[in-house]
Amino acid sequence: MTQASAQPKHYLSDKVEHFTESVIREMTRQAMQYGAINLAQGFPDFPAPAEIKQAAQDAIAADINQYAITWGAQSLRQAIARQMQEWQGLHVDPEKEIVVCCGSTEAMVATLLAVCNNGDEVVVFEPFYENYGPDSILSGAKPRFVKLRPPQTADDEWTFNEIELREAFQHHTKAIILNTPNNPTGKVFSRKELELIRDLCVEYNVLAITDEIYEHILYDGAQHISIACLDGMRERTITINGLSKSYSVTGWRVGWAVAPPAITSAIRKVHDFLTVGAPAPLQEAGAAALSLPAVYYHELAERYRTRRDRLIPALENAGFRCFRPRGAYYVMTDITAFGFPDDVEFARHLVQEVGIACVPGSSFYKHRKDGSQQVRFAFCKRPETLDEAARRLEKLRPR
Ligand code: GLN
Repeated sequence: MTQASAQPKHYLSDKVEHFTESVIREMTRQAMQYGAINLAQGFPDFPAPAEIKQAAQDAIAADINQYAITWGAQSLRQAIARQMQEWQGLHVDPEKEIVVCCGSTEAMVATLLAVCNNGDEVVVFEPFYENYGPDSILSGAKPRFVKLRPPQTADDEWTFNEIELREAFQHHTKAIILNTPNNPTGKVFSRKELELIRDLCVEYNVLAITDEIYEHILYDGAQHISIACLDGMRERTITINGLSKSYSVTGWRVGWAVAPPAITSAIRKVHDFLTVGAPAPLQEAGAAALSLPAVYYHELAERYRTRRDRLIPALENAGFRCFRPRGAYYVMTDITAFGFPDDVEFARHLVQEVGIACVPGSSFYKHRKDGSQQVRFAFCKRPETLDEAARRLEKLRPR
């Protein structure tokens, strides 16, 4: 036995016992190991827009290479405020209501650390983006999951039960984490659903922490609504977003939280001691990104729509049942037809024998068995990548 493996358990925090390493990131490592096409982790395999890469290079050349203000470069905060006004009609004070972080990932965990006490609960719709579980635990809160049930027909949506949601709000509930457009389901929450959530937040005095990183990636006429815009929610909502998905720069790690001043100031303190600040030159480039014209976003969504419409038929031909997304760039699928005992074995087969990496569905559920006949594919990839994936999928046949 090596010394490292002999280390007594009491060296470690109890918190880390309650979650595993990210399965999404692990699948990327497996894709690299087996030379597979990575349809697992949601990052583009095509270049970021030339203008914003140039803006980043210009910022470095102009010596913007030291710390930005800890809660974000003024230029970026002003651009965020301008965009929230333009897209959501929300007036945000860039001096008091924005914290720029190292990605929306840090914005989420910094927010939870800033608002949660030990023993608090956080409501999370399930299936959920895997970070929300560990984020809640790290902040001392307990996640309480409410099921999103898959659509029965192609025109249906993932839905939740109102009574179950109300029940979930009655346990020392501090906040609900929302993610719309949703990862992994592609659900875009409707106004009616958001109003219902609003009513519960107001009735039980609960915060909404809303991850809107896919706000510009919408299909089939779906409309993104920020819950902060609903009556009664502005003062109890933390809206999280970032550059990664809208501008195809997931490696830049620039995201932000927008919240009322008192909450912002708490998030700023946490953020300052976690990371000091996000990369300064990339914040300048972020200000340029947020100034791109409206047509940029229409083209972005349209390009992803064609990619969705390329991947889904290939998956269906191979035997997957696809839950058609209305937003974001993932498709959840049912793998029952293949007769595998579970999603992890299926994903292993797919990456090793077929040459495609996906994410096992169980990583989006608290009880692994709930996702054991589902896997998620990301389609934020070049058309050539998706064509090659389609070719490889022909090797896969229902058993
Ligand atoms: N959001 C992306 C996904 O779900 C990747 C997130 C990450 O790995 N940081 O695949």
